[in-house]
Amino acid sequence: MRILERILDLLFPPKCPFCGRVLEHQGICGECRSALPWTGEGEDLWDLGGEVRCAAPLWYEGAAREGILRLKFHAASAAAQPMGELVAQCAARYYAGEFDTVTYVPVSHARLRRRGYDQSRLLAQSACRLWGTRPQTLLVKTRDNPPQSGLHEAAARRANVLGVYEVPEGARVAGRRILIVDDVCTTGSTLKECARVLQDAGAQAVMAVAVARTPEEKTRKDGCNRQRLSV
Ligand SMILES: [Zn+2]
Repeated sequence: MRILERILDLLFPPKCPFCGRVLEHQGICGECRSALPWTGEGEDLWDLGGEVRCAAPLWYEGAAREGILRLKFHAASAAAQPMGELVAQCAARYYAGEFDTVTYVPVSHARLRRRGYDQSRLLAQSACRLWGTRPQTLLVKTRDNPPQSGLHEAAARRANVLGVYEVPEGARVAGRRILIVDDVCTTGSTLKECARVLQDAGAQAVMAVAVARTPEEKTRKDGCNRQRLSV
């Protein structure tokens, strides 16, 4: 396995997921480590409502945004490993001992066919690799709704995801304490809806982690509230 990994490294050298620089080892380059828009104390964990918290190590802007967009749209699935490690560190910091099951926000079957992979699943797999476990598929997306990224108003985003996710038959949710992994948290509508579906299926607790969160003033800028919020 190690030899195979070594050969793959030679064929496809590891790159920093944020700036694309070729690295000797998989990870995040030193420059990005110091320059990325890290969320600070008090910004990296917040309440989504409905007894669900979300944690994220980065703001969704600059190089963080570019890296995530590459992961999402440019088949840069190798980027999932270092990003998944960020997710794992963040989850370990806030939820250590609080969850016993890891799942992810799924894309629809149609999108999975087009893209070939599910970016949040890859992130969850990378995080789980560090924990010696595997993510469970506890949610399926039953409708290919318009992308949330095209909707700015919080109410429209909430309506767009309502009833879109279901627990697949046979998935064991009841009594579980579940961590949901996603790539970006904007208004939290998607994560909240996923959490509601899991809670309705009997989950004991649900918490969320994303690679990045959208800065609040940017979320609101195009929405109903055009005032810049003082954060
Ligand atoms: Zn970099």
